[in-house]
Amino acid sequence: MQPFISIVAPCYNEEDVIDIFLEKIFAVLKKLDRSYEIVFVNDGSRDNTLEILKQKAKEYDAVRVISLSRNFGKEAALSAGLDMAHGEVVVPIDVDLQDPPELILDFVKKYEEGYDVVVGKRVDRTTDSAAKRVSAETFYKLHNKISDIEIPHNVGDYRLMSRRVVEELKKLPETQRFMKGIFAWLGFKTAVVEYKRESRAAGETSFNGWKLWNFALDGITSFSTAPLRVWLYVGIVLAAISFLYGSWIILKTLIFGVDAPGYASMITVVLFLGGIQLMGIGILGEYIGRIYLESKNRPVYIIEDEY
Ligand code: UDP
Ligand code: MG
Repeated sequence: MQPFISIVAPCYNEEDVIDIFLEKIFAVLKKLDRSYEIVFVNDGSRDNTLEILKQKAKEYDAVRVISLSRNFGKEAALSAGLDMAHGEVVVPIDVDLQDPPELILDFVKKYEEGYDVVVGKRVDRTTDSAAKRVSAETFYKLHNKISDIEIPHNVGDYRLMSRRVVEELKKLPETQRFMKGIFAWLGFKTAVVEYKRESRAAGETSFNGWKLWNFALDGITSFSTAPLRVWLYVGIVLAAISFLYGSWIILKTLIFGVDAPGYASMITVVLFLGGIQLMGIGILGEYIGRIYLESKNRPVYIIEDEY
């Protein structure tokens, strides 16, 4: 029997929150009064998460647990959950309760009005650190400027998707998964529900500055080739400036004769160009790295056990 709704919750070292999460989510599902399943994905947790989840799966028929063979990262864990979910609609949600479960009721209402996708939009992120908010804002702005697809501001993975959206999503072949971008790329008729982002119920975030920076790089290189193309224009501008400067030197030499050679300006130009070239090569490297990873065509995740 296909349940109406599948809740998909990736878990990485979340032993402290699973109980409260389940309690809250059961309360909401009771209100919803439709058939449901809860799919937990254990993303290679190093604490007691798996043990707790196994016990929950035993206790409740509606709880399913998919355990990955190691930590594959949130994007992969989410993919695993979406692949394994059977529901007519699927809702990925963080298990740390930063995404308020009550919103699911609004999501379903919108779905019944005929939307295929309902996204949760964070209107108030005061519980996130200032640095996180500023960097997130900058990322969305930059990303949307240089990518073909637009990621809506402050919309995370918390959303509802209809079965046909999930089926389309499952067809995407890429192994490097930037879910925010993929979700946006899929399109479909989308409704927005606003909410306030809570702080974590317990435990700690596993996304620190360096991880977020890499995440942002992945996002940009997944959906834009602008960083590759920009070098053409940088090159043109630099060449034009050099040409003008060269002409000026020739003119000056013709009129005033040779003066003392400028070591300082010379070394500045050499270093500047060296730096620009290295940056260009670095960016090429980012993309070649992605091509390399995709070309290996490895699975996004490996399931070790199911309970
Ligand atoms: N998560 C995961 N694998 C990871 C890191 C995180 O499955 O490698 C899960 C985590 O258990 C949580 C969700 O992804 O349910 C969001 O993680 P977190 O709260 O650490 O991120 P933040 O909310 O700070 O962005
Ligand atoms: Mg969180």
